[in-house]
Amino acid sequence: MSQVLALAGGPKAVQTDPGDIFDWPIVTQEDRDAVLDVLERRAMSGTETTAAFEREFAAWQGTQYCLGFSTGTASLQAAMYGCGVGVGDEIICPSLTYWASCLQVYTLGGTVVFAEVDPDSLCLAPGDIEARITPRTKAIVCVHYMGHPCDMDPIMEIARRRGVKVIEDVSHAQGALYRGRKVGTIGDVAAMSLMSGKSLAIGEAGILCTNNLEIYERALSLGHYERFGDDIQTPYLRESLGLPLGGYKYRMHQMSSAMGRVQLKHYDGRCAEIQRAMNHFWDLLEGVPGVRAHRPAKESGSTMGGWYAAHGLYRPEELGGLSVTRFCEAVRAEGCSTSPGANMPLHSHPLFNTTDIYGHGRPTRIAHSDRDLRQPPGSLPVTEAMPARCYGIPWFKHFRADIIAEYAEAFRKVALNAERLLADDPGNPPTLGGWHFFRHR
Ligand SMILES: *Cc1c(COP(=O)(O)O)cnc(C)c1O
Repeated sequence: MSQVLALAGGPKAVQTDPGDIFDWPIVTQEDRDAVLDVLERRAMSGTETTAAFEREFAAWQGTQYCLGFSTGTASLQAAMYGCGVGVGDEIICPSLTYWASCLQVYTLGGTVVFAEVDPDSLCLAPGDIEARITPRTKAIVCVHYMGHPCDMDPIMEIARRRGVKVIEDVSHAQGALYRGRKVGTIGDVAAMSLMSGKSLAIGEAGILCTNNLEIYERALSLGHYERFGDDIQTPYLRESLGLPLGGYKYRMHQMSSAMGRVQLKHYDGRCAEIQRAMNHFWDLLEGVPGVRAHRPAKESGSTMGGWYAAHGLYRPEELGGLSVTRFCEAVRAEGCSTSPGANMPLHSHPLFNTTDIYGHGRPTRIAHSDRDLRQPPGSLPVTEAMPARCYGIPWFKHFRADIIAEYAEAFRKVALNAERLLADDPGNPPTLGGWHFFRHR
């Protein structure tokens, strides 16, 4: 293989047409039949297909209750409401995540306090949570970020001791294991996106899972009026049956739940192949300076789930200080699409600092707070350093060793020739990444 970088006129590391290796979700006649069946039954707005999907999802996830939603955003808002978040209450969440891990809390009159992430897992740092708990803290939102399980044991210990609920945001990581347990079964409630493009992709949809009846019924009461009836057991909820307490309508479109039933059946098998392909990619890069796998240690009992928006960790200090911006430019020239950064830290956006959304006459972030809990840029240094320390990697859906080797070679070749790139390194711009990184095809 040539060592001359493509940026310097050498041959590209990636030469072969990738075919369907990146296509997701995998759609077959079985999906088409299921969706058309809903259409022909004019059953788009019913609940029977969704109820069947919920039963199957509950069995797969291993929780007693599952509730389908129109979006992951809605399911997470309902999880917050389920945990009792109300006016003036606080949730703790990482700032390095998609906005729907926390932003809906404003609609409940609550607010968010951000905690740092661990620089290797990119998930909530257990050591940075406890000092941020106040009498107003109702829940900790654990995001299994980009497929990597959060370190749940210490987080659950803190939460139990301090009487705070734990919400798992599983949008990126369906099927991941944390020390042998499936993520989504460890906290008090899990909620997640099932949007096209996510690991478990069924259209526009979300789902909430819990073993706690009160959380389930509160979550249901927010936007499922058609199911908020005589079956409800929580006494105080029974006083208001029939209309949605949140004033929302959140049921899942049945073309999504029909597709979900098909996708779920194949999910474990397809994920096993993704797991094999992605681990092979990282095994090929083991020992290469500057690049590190974002995955749990082997033999830890923890695994990635689905590898949604897979990223790699960047260590510029091993490459003479080469910026991740220049690094990615060189990898792209090798024929492998990548970009620097990940989600932009949420606390850098005006919505978390100055914006008055509802006319409270003060920033919504502190509209109901008795202290100024805002976290201006500079206040979360570990999180703020992360965008310059990660980059996107290919998300392989099939184990095809020859093709995977070409993409790994793109990263290896650039890392091993990093010193040649230093002269023209423009450095990183002030911000890297975006508010979302999923590109709709
Ligand atoms: C996509 C996503 C959501 C929101 O899900 P939607 O289905 O898009 O509403 C929530 N949290 C995370 C971490 C996500 O990536």
